[in-house]
Amino acid sequence: MAVSTPRPSLPSSAARGLHLGLDIGGTKTQAVIVNARLATLAEASAPTRPGPEGVLATIDEVTGLLGANLTRFASIGVGIPGLVDFRTGRVRQAVNVGLRDLDLAAALAARTTCPVRVDNDVKATALGAAYALPGAGGDLVYLNVGTGIALAAVVDGRLLRGHDNAAGEIGHLAVDPGGDLCPCGQRGCLETLAAGWSVSQRLAQAGLDLASLADDPAPAAVSERRRLLRGLSLAASLAALSFDPATILFGGGVITTAVGLVEKVAAHLAEQEAGSSFLAHLGLSRRVVQAPAGLPIAAIGAAALGFAESVG
Ligand SMILES: [Zn+2]
Repeated sequence: MAVSTPRPSLPSSAARGLHLGLDIGGTKTQAVIVNARLATLAEASAPTRPGPEGVLATIDEVTGLLGANLTRFASIGVGIPGLVDFRTGRVRQAVNVGLRDLDLAAALAARTTCPVRVDNDVKATALGAAYALPGAGGDLVYLNVGTGIALAAVVDGRLLRGHDNAAGEIGHLAVDPGGDLCPCGQRGCLETLAAGWSVSQRLAQAGLDLASLADDPAPAAVSERRRLLRGLSLAASLAALSFDPATILFGGGVITTAVGLVEKVAAHLAEQEAGSSFLAHLGLSRRVVQAPAGLPIAAIGAAALGFAESVG
C-alpha cells in the first residue's frame, strides 16, 4: 500500500485535558476518552436505547462506564447515522436509533460547559481511520456498506464535507439504467446492487445467508455475489478516480457480516486490472482493506471532531 502523505496533523494549539468521543450506532454506542494527542485512554460500550430520551440515557450510561460524566471533558464529539447538520449538531432521520429530529448538540451542551460537536458517523469514521490506523495516512476513503452506502474522504489530511456536508453520499448514483427500481425513484442505484437493504431482500427470497455468501458455491449465491462485487467494485473505483486515496477502507454491517467479502472485492478488482493497463496502473486491488475489528475508529474520529471544535 503506497502512502503518499502523512496522517492529519493535530491542531497546533491542542487543548489540554480529556476529550470524549461517542459513536452512536443502531445496536451499540461506543465511547472513548482520548488525550490531546488522540491516544485512547479508556473505552466502553453499551447497547443503544432508541429515541431522544433513550439516546441521551445511553450516553450517560456509557460515560458512567468510563467512570466519568459529561462535565469532566475538554470537548465532546459525537458520530451518529442520519442527516446531521454539523454546524448546529442537529440530527434528522436517524432511523436506526429512532431519532426523527433532535438538536443533539444542544441537548448535550445544556449539561456541560465544553464544546460539543456532532457529525455523521461515516465522516467521523473516516477521520478516525486517518488518525488511528497505522499506514493509512492523510489520503483515505472510508466506504461504509451498511443498510445504505456512503463514503467519506480525507484528502491531504482534511475531511471533505462539500457544500452541505453531503460529499460522499454515493448510494443513489444510478449506475444501471435498466436495473432494479430504487425507493428513491431512480433505477439501478448503487444501493440496489450492494446495500444491505437490497442484498438482504434478495438473499431472504433465495434462502441464502450473507455470512457465508463470499464462499457459497450455490448458483443463486454465485449470481448474487457477482452483483454485490460489481457494486462494491464500482464504489471503490468511484472513490479512487475521485480522490486517489492511498487506502480504500471498507466497513459497515454488510462488510463485517459477509466474512471474506473484501478479499473477494480485491480479487474482482485485480481481474479488471488484468484486462486494462489503465486500471493496472491505478492498482486499486492493492489499496482495498477492511476496517479492523476491535479498534474504535468511529469513536476516535468523533473525539477528533470535538477536538477540532474546541480549538477552532
Ligand atoms: Zn436510489
